[in-house]
Amino acid sequence: MGMGTIWVYGEVAEDGGLSSMTTEILAKARELADDVHVVVGGEGTDAIAASAGANGASTVHATGDLAGGLQGVHVAAAIAGAIEAGSGPAAVLAGTTYDGRDVAARLSVAVDAPVITNVVDLEVSGDALVGTEPVFGGTTNVKTTFTGGKAQIALIRPKSFVAEETGGAAASVAALAVPDSGAAGAARVQDRFVEESDGPKLDEAGTVVSGGRGLGEADKYTMVEDLATVLGGAAGASRAIVDAGWVPYSYQVGQTGKVVKPDVYLALGISGATQHLVGMKGSKTIIAINKDEEAPIFGVADLGIVGDVHKVVPKLLEALKAR
Ligand SMILES: Cc1cc2nc3c(=O)[nH]c(=O)nc-3n(C[C@H](O)[C@H](O)[C@H](O)COP(=O)(O)OP(=O)(O)OC[C@H]3O[C@@H](n4cnc5c(N)ncnc54)[C@H](O)[C@@H]3O)c2cc1C
Repeated sequence: MGMGTIWVYGEVAEDGGLSSMTTEILAKARELADDVHVVVGGEGTDAIAASAGANGASTVHATGDLAGGLQGVHVAAAIAGAIEAGSGPAAVLAGTTYDGRDVAARLSVAVDAPVITNVVDLEVSGDALVGTEPVFGGTTNVKTTFTGGKAQIALIRPKSFVAEETGGAAASVAALAVPDSGAAGAARVQDRFVEESDGPKLDEAGTVVSGGRGLGEADKYTMVEDLATVLGGAAGASRAIVDAGWVPYSYQVGQTGKVVKPDVYLALGISGATQHLVGMKGSKTIIAINKDEEAPIFGVADLGIVGDVHKVVPKLLEALKAR
């Protein structure tokens, strides 16, 4: 049984359509609800309407141009306005992104409704959403059921669901009124900085090569980058080497970093702490190279090489380059 209407906070990708985070949530939302809508902070463009429809949404609620105002402030105010007016949804889902978290938190305060965060799965019980969240570093899952309130708000972890287009026609676009948000509404985004990187993004790459403390020293991280380049993938890292300042935080895979789900994940000199595993154990094939045959990473690896990264990786690079 479905649960009325779910609104999904829609974030826009570089190509003008909805982001992969949003389309992942839409795939799940349409299993749960009778009707799924997308709400965007900005214009409801043709690209957004097409992308929403193709992923199973019937309607896009668009605030119209926010003139550089913050997404969280205005989108939350707009959704809260709809809920107070009785034209809002039963539940609101957003991705665990900077804007998604901002929308969920402000909406929660505005309508005095709870948020379930860090959700990796969702189901419906009666007319309530039930979220599954990993706790204790991903070693245990708990289920939380909403028991009331004006809205059920959940924040979804990236890569929890698989986006799949339904082939639906473009969604219809409706204007969503944005109530005045007082002083918060006056804040303006002044500038945007896009981190430069070559090759695929870490959380979108089909192949990810990550390095850990077993590399020994910062300079040896080039091995990881070289291997990633040869394989057409992205380079990642354990928190140990991010904390040590070898690579920026944006490389970190794990509980407090990025969640990745590539076809192939290579872990070089990474022990496999649970906080690292929660960020990569959904990968299709996991290959580990570690000199300690007892390392926990071998517990999740499909293929393992017990050996010294400084010996194995150069050989591997040589063999791959020779192909
Ligand atoms: C709240 C919290 C959140 C955290 N979030 C994250 C997170 O998001 N991501 C994350 O990664 N960690 C996270 N951690 C840290 C995590 O607990 C581990 O400390 C960290 O993942 C260890 O990194 P590592 O595997 O590189 O280092 P280590 O655990 O030191 O492992 C190094 C490995 O390299 C092997 N090795 C050594 N030399 C060689 C060699 N020459 N050749 C081959 N193998 C070799 C060793 O056998 C060892 O297994 C978090 C911790 C906490 C408490």
